[in-house]
Amino acid sequence: MDPSVENVVIIGSGPAGWAAAIYTARANLNPLVIEGDPSSDKNRTQGTLPLGQLALTTEIENYPGWPAGQTREFLKSALGDEHQPYWVMANKPQPNHGINGPELMELMRQQAKNFGTRIESKDVVKVDLAKQPFTLTTHDGLQVRAKTIIVATGARANYLGLPSEDAYKNRGVSACAVCDGALPRFRNKAIAVIGGGDSAVEEASYLTKFGSKVYLLVRRHELRASKIMQQRAKENPKIEILWNTELEEVLGSEETGVTGVLVRNNKTSVVTELAVSGVFLAIGHTPNTSFLDGQVKLTEKGYILWTTPARTYTSVDGVFAAGDVADDYYRQAITAAGTGCMAALDAERYLGHHGLV
Ligand code: NAP
Repeated sequence: MDPSVENVVIIGSGPAGWAAAIYTARANLNPLVIEGDPSSDKNRTQGTLPLGQLALTTEIENYPGWPAGQTREFLKSALGDEHQPYWVMANKPQPNHGINGPELMELMRQQAKNFGTRIESKDVVKVDLAKQPFTLTTHDGLQVRAKTIIVATGARANYLGLPSEDAYKNRGVSACAVCDGALPRFRNKAIAVIGGGDSAVEEASYLTKFGSKVYLLVRRHELRASKIMQQRAKENPKIEILWNTELEEVLGSEETGVTGVLVRNNKTSVVTELAVSGVFLAIGHTPNTSFLDGQVKLTEKGYILWTTPARTYTSVDGVFAAGDVADDYYRQAITAAGTGCMAALDAERYLGHHGLV
């Protein structure tokens, strides 16, 4: 085949993308990662910048291999100057006990580069998967042809879109209790969770380990969550469910971050102020699949359909999916990395089986 056709193109640069890159690079497949456009305003506002959702969080305590410890010297030695965290560059104290999300992602990217992965900092806006080789087009018109594609574009947490919510992201507003719940700012203080599904109840229950009280703000008069989760929420003495209640505004200050919320009862229109140290959104996620333009089968919730159990196959032969773009259930960095590895092995076997390398 034409040498200008890539063996493997990986779209996306979260844990799934970099795990796939590390594995395919080490299998001598010379992968190309199209990591996303870091200068795009759209990517910034909707939370789809390169390096994925982990890059939007702070301390990561549940990624195996990263116990609390002094990371400065390691980061200095592992990453190039332009990828060091601000606190290393500014010679400030380490802000947390262990590794932070953006640092972990830079390390994954560096690890993939160390094995020869090539990287394009562009958004894929169009694909043609009708025939081999596949064709991808980026936002600035680059065309890439590929024998296999690994889609690892992730999902973005849904936010309400309030300006005050945006202003306090990472300073009390979060969409991931597992990532951020144990931070000191939430300890022994009240916290608000928005949503009425399984995630909202799970996040609220989880946050009761840290907060003094958790308000669950539900926009209707009932929960969408499964019966067992509903029972869990109702029986937890630290959870107070506020029915027919919507978030109106996040309150806070530059120095302290979130200090409270204004909530509105949508039946009575009465607005109340609650003192909380944090606001956790659990109103669903949106997988980043629009560029596929219907060419890969999706689940009814819009995630890429894995067509075979325990494989990363999609409805298109030679196109594989990894991470949150196909997983609406586990949604953890470690599971994304795991399926990234699986997709790399699936792509390698596909290439071998079809005599394409
Ligand atoms: P979900 O089931 O779609 O629930 C989203 C919730 O957010 C709903 O209660 C919805 O309210 C609310 N919501 C949506 N937009 C809102 C808005 N603008 N303002 C206020 N509230 C809004 O999403 P999920 O909870 O993330 O769950 C996703 C899937 O993962 C589900 O299939 C779930 O069962 C599964 N999951 C399972 C577990 C578990 O089994 N342990 C844990 C987590 C997730 P309405 O109800 O009014 O639409």
